[in-house]
Amino acid sequence: MNNRLADLTERVKARLNAIKDPIGGKGLFTSGRVKGLDARADGKVSFTIEAPADVAELYAPVRDRAEAAARSVDGVTSVTAVLTAETTANAPAKSTGGVGRVKQIIAVASAKGGVGKSTVAVNLACAFASLGMKTGLLDLDVYGPSAPTLLGTGAKKPRMREDKLLEPLEAHGLKTMSIGYLVDPSSPMIWRGAMATSAVRQMIDEVVWGDLDVLLLDLPPGTGDVQLTLVQRVPLAGAVIVSTPQEMALADVRRGLAMFEKTRAPILGVIENMAYFETPDGQRTHIFGEGGAKRVAADVGAPFLGEIPIDVALRESCDVGAPLVATQPEHPVSKRFREIAAAALDNAARMNKPAPAIRIK
Ligand code: ADP
Repeated sequence: MNNRLADLTERVKARLNAIKDPIGGKGLFTSGRVKGLDARADGKVSFTIEAPADVAELYAPVRDRAEAAARSVDGVTSVTAVLTAETTANAPAKSTGGVGRVKQIIAVASAKGGVGKSTVAVNLACAFASLGMKTGLLDLDVYGPSAPTLLGTGAKKPRMREDKLLEPLEAHGLKTMSIGYLVDPSSPMIWRGAMATSAVRQMIDEVVWGDLDVLLLDLPPGTGDVQLTLVQRVPLAGAVIVSTPQEMALADVRRGLAMFEKTRAPILGVIENMAYFETPDGQRTHIFGEGGAKRVAADVGAPFLGEIPIDVALRESCDVGAPLVATQPEHPVSKRFREIAAAALDNAARMNKPAPAIRIK
């Protein structure tokens, strides 16, 4: 296409986009209603407007307006605008969005906030990637998304394709999506119910996840209905539960385990975060008590995946958006994450054989 034609096409697009889609209120172009826009050297322009089949009559006046708008563009000699009803067969290409080609989806859950669930999720994702797996991280913590900070993606925005599907961002070898990429971080997160649900649906079904070996879901903290609904949306290969060794957290871990029991997703294991602090001379202090998560795992018959110590480098790497596992792979804590990732995968392979999943009494 030569420059003049490209310029003509752009001006027609802009004019069409000034017309609002009766559904959703976006510009006709942005909303994806206009298909097959073609402009010729002799000034002939043609395009199709695809209307949802059930409300196609709403779009007849839109078609007329679009035709007139295109004709008013300098250089356009004639316009053919065709209105078609969109059936399921030619609806936007949903087949390329969603998690259909993801081999296994693993949820990372915690009974309460502040136990390091997101820190663990991000570093575990990097550990999977370092084991050679194509890995995605979906930050579903709609009320407190942390992926933009932890991965250093900051103000970067995912690209929306013409078919309205979103391309996940790429960071540290991961494909990632987060509500934090879609909304202005300075706007208050007063999302409730329906809004959060539709955002979550979009991040699962309308993102081009493509072929992935593993997709990690960073769930909102807690083990209530919100979390249950989320994990029921996708076929889970299993869940890992992050806890600190404190007794209080442990009572909650039991609730977490019970929640996944309802979804029939196997518990791949419990990770004890902030397990101890080690001084440079190798002295360990168990700040939050010793071995609590391990005991609970044993009590309920869930595997124990390992301990992550309280570590300054780990905390600093979170703050600067450079996950430890990706940026300091030789660090002992990075090694620990890789061991935990490998153990979780082993358990997933074992538990997803048609053997019975772990049952919690
Ligand atoms: P959650 O997702 O459970 O709310 P975060 O992952 O956001 O928790 O962690 C809370 C805070 O604790 C963050 O500042 C994080 O850097 C820090 N943190 C988490 N795990 C560790 C650890 N093992 N050592 C040091 N700091 C940690």
